[in-house]
Amino acid sequence: MERQSPEELDRIIERIDAIAQKRPSHKEVLEFLKGIVTEQYEVKQQIKVEPIDIKEDMVKLKIREGFPLIDKKDLKLDMDSGTTMFKGLCAVARKRNDKVAGDVKKINEKLDAGELNLEELFEKVVAEDEEYLDATAEKLKLNKELLLFLAKNSINPIFEAYADQLKGYVDQKSWWKGYCPICGSKPLIGALRKKEGERFLLCSSCGFEWRFKRMQCPFCGNEDRKKHKYFFIEKEDKGYRVDVCEKCKKYIKTIDTRELFDDVVLFVEDIGTLHLDILAQKEGYEREVANILNV
Ligand SMILES: [Zn+2]
Ligand SMILES: [Zn+2]
Repeated sequence: MERQSPEELDRIIERIDAIAQKRPSHKEVLEFLKGIVTEQYEVKQQIKVEPIDIKEDMVKLKIREGFPLIDKKDLKLDMDSGTTMFKGLCAVARKRNDKVAGDVKKINEKLDAGELNLEELFEKVVAEDEEYLDATAEKLKLNKELLLFLAKNSINPIFEAYADQLKGYVDQKSWWKGYCPICGSKPLIGALRKKEGERFLLCSSCGFEWRFKRMQCPFCGNEDRKKHKYFFIEKEDKGYRVDVCEKCKKYIKTIDTRELFDDVVLFVEDIGTLHLDILAQKEGYEREVANILNV
């Protein structure tokens, strides 16, 4: 996911507008997304990443052994741009509605009072330390989902900048894991591409897309065809589907680009199909990576 060029930002905004027009029930959340991507675009220009020196034989070894190219926890996060991003996203979120505005206000108060430490929060979010998040949200009486959402969306552009450096090292034909070959994060959404319907997964942190098997669950590895199903809502909308795993009860949405004639932007499609999340969750399936739904 390249968000650096103005043309790319235009393409994303165009896609957001197109989906909002097609699906008016999602207009509000898509406007919110627009504010977020615009803010991220502004800050992304200033992100500093340290050069990563990685040797060719090490790359091969890591890929062969199933290790991602980098350990997210080892990366130095540019706290200047991370902090600017967090504050900018707070300002965007405040405009969403009164409820979110109130929750953002509380987060800002705790930041100003020094009770919430952003650097620590970012580190724990990168380490996927749920306990820390639960404890902090409870102690400071903050909206945990919102806190996680703001932190992740502040950190992700930094990971994207690192991934830009490393994507040339990935050989798509020798990975096939359910997690990102660059940073090891879980997938946000999937896509079927080309005539053959090759399946790709989009990383929920660094935005890299990697190849994955059609009939496998990225979360538990299940390959039993009988336990792997998918559904879509309307025939005319079958470009958007939900893949569910009966073994681990997780689901992931998939965009079949062969059914859509539009210029698809995967992370935008994710927000533009929240009705599918609601449906899948009602059916008892669980989403692995949090999204805007609960903010
Ligand atoms: Zn990644
Ligand atoms: Zn599974």
